[in-house]
Amino acid sequence: MNNDQHLIQNLLSQSNSSVRQMIDKMPGGFFIYRAGGNEELLYANQAMIRIFNCDTLEEFRQLTGNSLRGIVHPDDLESVEQSIKEQIAQSQYDLDYVEYRIIQKGGRIRWIEDYGHYTCDEIAGNIFYVFAGDATEKKKRQAQVMDSIRQAQLQRLEMIEGLSIDYDSIFYVDLDSDQIQPYRVSSRVKDQFTENLLPSRFSGFNSDYIRTWVCPEDQEHLTRCMEPDYIRTILSKEKTFLINYKIRKDVKPGYMQLRIVNVGRDSHISQIVMGYRSVDNEITRQMEQRQLLEETLNQAKAAIVAKNIFLSNMSHDIRTPMNALFGYTALAKTHLDDRQKLLEYINGIETVNELLLRLITDVLDISRIEAGRMHPEKTLCDLPQLIRSVHSAHEEQAAAKNLCFTTDISGLQHHGVYTDTQKLSQVLHQLTDNAIKYTEPGGHVSITAQESDGDMNSATYRFIFEDNGIGISKEFLSHIFEPFERQKNTTLSGVPGTGLGLTITKGLVEMLGGTIDIFSTPGSGSRFVITLPLPVCQKPLPVHDFAAPSAFDVKQRILLVEDNEINLEIETELLEDSGFLVDTASDGSIAVEKLQKAAPGYYSLILMDIQMPVMDGYQATRTIRSMGKPGISDIPIIALSANAFDEDRKMAIESGMNAHMAKPVDIGLLLEKISELTRLAHS
Ligand code: ADP
Repeated sequence: MNNDQHLIQNLLSQSNSSVRQMIDKMPGGFFIYRAGGNEELLYANQAMIRIFNCDTLEEFRQLTGNSLRGIVHPDDLESVEQSIKEQIAQSQYDLDYVEYRIIQKGGRIRWIEDYGHYTCDEIAGNIFYVFAGDATEKKKRQAQVMDSIRQAQLQRLEMIEGLSIDYDSIFYVDLDSDQIQPYRVSSRVKDQFTENLLPSRFSGFNSDYIRTWVCPEDQEHLTRCMEPDYIRTILSKEKTFLINYKIRKDVKPGYMQLRIVNVGRDSHISQIVMGYRSVDNEITRQMEQRQLLEETLNQAKAAIVAKNIFLSNMSHDIRTPMNALFGYTALAKTHLDDRQKLLEYINGIETVNELLLRLITDVLDISRIEAGRMHPEKTLCDLPQLIRSVHSAHEEQAAAKNLCFTTDISGLQHHGVYTDTQKLSQVLHQLTDNAIKYTEPGGHVSITAQESDGDMNSATYRFIFEDNGIGISKEFLSHIFEPFERQKNTTLSGVPGTGLGLTITKGLVEMLGGTIDIFSTPGSGSRFVITLPLPVCQKPLPVHDFAAPSAFDVKQRILLVEDNEINLEIETELLEDSGFLVDTASDGSIAVEKLQKAAPGYYSLILMDIQMPVMDGYQATRTIRSMGKPGISDIPIIALSANAFDEDRKMAIESGMNAHMAKPVDIGLLLEKISELTRLAHS
């Protein structure tokens, strides 16, 4: 009989022995049971009975069925017995440790930790001495710790999930063991893994993937990048790296990016994560941006080329008439006594002057249209009156070529429309001028105005310019609106022009909200159609007083304010030749002084230059207008200025002038204006 057996004997027989008393009063639970077929609880101390919430040993025996099987919760029993068996088999000292649940009297569940010692004896059988303690609180604390660990893990996983959202496939790879564990797989690589995504060989996966999906020109590169040694070398310097490659065109062309991240903690690199994602959209966007940049660059280059061509054309177009001017002037000097020839040369000079002026005006117009500095100003426009004035302005030109030149406004229902009359007039004049210029003598030119789609407020207007002239080739039509472009036959036939008229016309028509269409057959003629939607005026149009300018019977005195000596001399002579008395001032302040001293009515009108030293024309006008002297401060003032834009005209009127005329002075128009203003002043 061994020591254990003796102890049991003693415990069971000497119920009052001091050892038993000590064991009974131990704070922790203690019990002895026989395992095996004749399983039986041999002893349980007080603390053990208390753990089960029992009052007596008898009660405890009844509750547990007097066996370990009754002590352990039925759900834990199998694993507990198995664990004890395994531990005892492996333990040198026949010891085991298990944790399990129990059901107390009253039904509450508690956790027990159980330290067992096993002995075996032929007589007593398989005996276990067990120290047991209530581990419920400990378990709770452990569960809490586990819970928070699980929570943190969950958060980390969510974070990883969030960060990896862009990736179609994600793998964990152990380079040392050549293992790849899929975490997320795209439809592309799904077939390379088992259904339940079991790990497989990394090297095998790679070669299959590259062969099946990667485009031939990137296969070698990707194969090299996926070599474990290569990955280790790169990841020893960086935490992560990227590989870009293309998918085979015959499968589904696209751009992919593979990111490899070192997730191992050791200095030896083995554990990596690989993420594959499509970068199609980004690459496409990048390519679009690059294309946009290239286009912008090309446009900028084209603009520079166009500007240079423009400048060289301009220089050519200015030099040619200048050359003629020099020539005519030299010829005139050598034929001073031949009146007939002199007149011819002067007429030549006049034509060249007009051409030069046209060129300068056109170039300025183009640059202002392009710079967006020209804005339409809507006024009431009398369409029949406008077309009549265009017709009469070109009547002489058409008659000189013996053209049949007609207008037809019968298609107009409303006569008054709101538009920028001056700009519309410029368009109509230009197209009429071209039709006449490019039609052979004896031909016909017509202007037709039509109205359609009208309602109470607006209508669509069509202005059609038709000729049976030289026509335009299909090829030239595609360049016709480009500056300085002229059809070859035009230049050869010697018809004067700059090739800027239609560029400006198109700009103006678009500014007015319309379109221009050209239909032409070389040798048969052309048809230019301007289509403009315009607001209509329902009210009757005011009647104009077309009284002819009165002759200047009484000698009127004009104050000519001009700082340029040559201009002063020419203008003085022209005015004196027209029957005026002319007084001069070389800047605005002298003009103001002269007016201060003059008696009311002494001067009939002032012709005022704008840009002058000391005091400019605007300032001088404002000073005169604020003098408060009847017959002086209300004197008609006409701006005569080389600043010929709309805004200059506007500024002149705003400063108090009555009219604005651009230099070089058209003496006929100037006399008309003087007559109109002086008549008004005296009426
Ligand atoms: P320009 O008349 O000063 O040369 P435009 O810009 O007005 O410049 O016209 C450009 C070119 O278009 C002309 O040189 C001419 O070759 C052609 N063109 C314009 N109008 C007509 C027309 N009615 N018939 C034939 N050709 C025309």
